[in-house]
Amino acid sequence: MKIAIAGYGVEGQENYTYWAKDPANELTIVDERADGGASYPHGADTILGPGVFTRLDGFDLVIRTAGLAPHKIKTDGKVWSATNEFFAKCTAPIIGVTGSKGKGTTSSLITSILEAAGKRVWLVGNIGVPALSVLSQVQPDDIVVYELSSFQLWDLEKSPHTAVVLFIEQEHLDVHRSMDEYVEAKAQITRHQTEDDLLVYYANNQYTERIASTSKARKVAYPSADAAYVHMYDEMFCYGSNALCSIHELRIPGEHNQVNALAAIDAVWQYTQDAEAIKAGLNNFKGLPHRLAFVAEVNGVQYYDDSIATTPGSAIAALRAFENKPKTIILGGSYKGSDFSELAHELTQHHVRALLIGDEAQRISAACEAAGFRNYEIIEGIPAPQVAETVTRRAAELTQPGGVVLLSPAAASFGIFKNYVDRGEQFIAAVKSL
Ligand code: ADP
Repeated sequence: MKIAIAGYGVEGQENYTYWAKDPANELTIVDERADGGASYPHGADTILGPGVFTRLDGFDLVIRTAGLAPHKIKTDGKVWSATNEFFAKCTAPIIGVTGSKGKGTTSSLITSILEAAGKRVWLVGNIGVPALSVLSQVQPDDIVVYELSSFQLWDLEKSPHTAVVLFIEQEHLDVHRSMDEYVEAKAQITRHQTEDDLLVYYANNQYTERIASTSKARKVAYPSADAAYVHMYDEMFCYGSNALCSIHELRIPGEHNQVNALAAIDAVWQYTQDAEAIKAGLNNFKGLPHRLAFVAEVNGVQYYDDSIATTPGSAIAALRAFENKPKTIILGGSYKGSDFSELAHELTQHHVRALLIGDEAQRISAACEAAGFRNYEIIEGIPAPQVAETVTRRAAELTQPGGVVLLSPAAASFGIFKNYVDRGEQFIAAVKSL
């Protein structure tokens, strides 16, 4: 079979390795970057340079890397992806998790509970291992937990047995052409589900409700006003009239994480209803790096690294996680199409000062002005390598003992930082040097 590996980043390399296992396959690497030659496998066929994705006639299969939009590919062959391949071949039930924020955390909580219940679980996708790298080891009695981005879902031809749709907000509008396109891509997670499948979805959100309204699956909304399902009552996670465990078994901060835990319990309920396993699963999970992660306490001030908070909604969740504490929040970064008005309004509800950095500082300050929030400063004119240190020092000066400093920027990291990991690490280093 003639196969084009379209896009040769980390995922493209996995795809190459996977499809190269069959000697009958003739592979060609296709990438717009003409300069990555040194890292291509020895002797591999390549088609490189700007515009190559529109010239892919003559291939039987074009394997699209997740970040490459399907509409950018022109071919007379079939467009396929690692996610489609995994779904087509996987013999175990799949729990797919999507949403704008909380995928990694909720997928990890689901995995943790199922493991505590004695299941063999494969956590794959962004947060775990690349799915195709474990496909051959997955057994029918195992369970796969798959973190799915809109880019992976976009052209998915099969839906998971259990679909979890978390809170959705404006995101990735740098790649998706419109919010409708983004929501449509997410909706693929349930599009091919039947009445035998389950959709767990976040209620109170126009986008998730739109997705649920088109689904044929059995539906469970959370947080639920219906005590028949999983819910929180008197600081306990409960199902029906049964108390499962205290909400304080969960070690990760913030009400949004309690809500993520509700989604996780709903998703595992068909596999385990064991309260001890649920309690242990929630308690065993210690959180992920750069997600509202405690860094240190310096002079009575606590510092939290939430560098992955690249959207207004996640920064709002961080502010609420420290509702009653005086705070300084570091906001801003590069453009991602977000609307900051809700975040600006949220700021007016807190005892908080905002320090604004990066290209988005101006748009965030405009939103703050419109909302009547004036307790902000723009940190500008600082060379990129010194931004993290400068803004952290300024936050330290401004925050009283007993307060919290949050790096929860509501924007992407590019421009000043390599990526969110680099931004988080530079912040941690700056805190440690205070
Ligand atoms: P994802 O994998 O979808 O990016 P993560 O679980 O890694 O999500 O969390 C990313 C960021 O979103 C963190 O800042 C986290 O605190 C925040 N977050 C997690 N769950 C929610 C939620 N339900 N609502 C809003 N923000 C959330």
